Amino acid sequence: MSKFLVQNLSNLVAYVPGEQPKKNEFIKLNTNENPYPPPGVDILSDVAINLNLYNDPNCTKLTNVFGKYYNLAEDEVIFGNGSDEILAFCYMAFCEKEIAFPNISYGFYSVYSELFGLAGQKIPLTSDFRINKEDYFNLGKTIIIANPNAPTGIVLSLEDIEDILKHNQNNIVIIDEAYADFGEVTCKKLINQYDNIVVVGTFSKSRNLAGARLGYAIANRDLIEDIKLIKNSFNPYNVNALTQALGVVSIEQDEYFKECVDKIVTERKRFISFLDELDFHTLPSSANFVFTKHNTMSGAELAQKLREHKILVRYFDKIGEYVRITIGTTSQMDYVRQKFIKIIKADV
Ligand code: PMP
Repeated sequence: MSKFLVQNLSNLVAYVPGEQPKKNEFIKLNTNENPYPPPGVDILSDVAINLNLYNDPNCTKLTNVFGKYYNLAEDEVIFGNGSDEILAFCYMAFCEKEIAFPNISYGFYSVYSELFGLAGQKIPLTSDFRINKEDYFNLGKTIIIANPNAPTGIVLSLEDIEDILKHNQNNIVIIDEAYADFGEVTCKKLINQYDNIVVVGTFSKSRNLAGARLGYAIANRDLIEDIKLIKNSFNPYNVNALTQALGVVSIEQDEYFKECVDKIVTERKRFISFLDELDFHTLPSSANFVFTKHNTMSGAELAQKLREHKILVRYFDKIGEYVRITIGTTSQMDYVRQKFIKIIKADV
């Protein structure tokens, strides 16, 4: 750290992304990516010809196509360089002094609190890793909840979210739906019923585009205008032309999107039943990952042994003995199952 770093950032602890190995030697189940390739990469050279020009700062085509698909007006959505950027814009736009979020959730919520000089109130989950909605009533501050939550994968019902919104009418509630397409609950339609909800989403998970960096916020037009004010005061050209084009193809190729999501959900169910038989305790997941622990083997040991078999998973040393495993393709999961049996049987 240099002597020039501003004083109040000297204790900032940055977000630590999951490992991105240089070589292609691992089955990568550690960062909740989609195992299937994105559609539309064949159009990129046509788009690239115009990279000498600035990209469309308003993502006009993407906004239209996305708006039609989700039944939104063009001023009810804004796009960002990944949903991380959108989350940062929301923090800047809507958090005065404080923000509340579950104590076990996406790591960036507390990193951004620090970065933006906010007091972050971490609200404990219940002993079975659930969000207790009453804990979020009348907090008098902005709230952010990932739904489904990460890394648990557990989802709150629409009714519970509505209850939280009703009990915080003077504060913004941000619902981060990064994984919602893998489950049954989405709050998108609530933006016309409540003026205090911002729904954040991403193309990184269900839409196969983690490396292209495309996220969005959906809310009523006044809130989107506020987020736009931040975006246009920070980086108007935040979504590059290639990404905008890929985003359009993703929405247009709806069958491919649904097919990928279906395959992942089917594989998730199959993997959870498999884990049950091997004496694992797995939380009920509505996401493209499972959070699971074995009866006897520690999380650190399991993650290490899987690594020796060239399978990367995520182990968080602060959350008990659980490991988070992203759901891969069917053939990847066949291989994973074989190795699980080998590791667990060798241990007993
Ligand atoms: N929210 C949650 C809950 C996440 O897990 C992630 C990615 N790890 C993000 C947001 C950010 O995703 P991206 O910036 O790739 O859109």
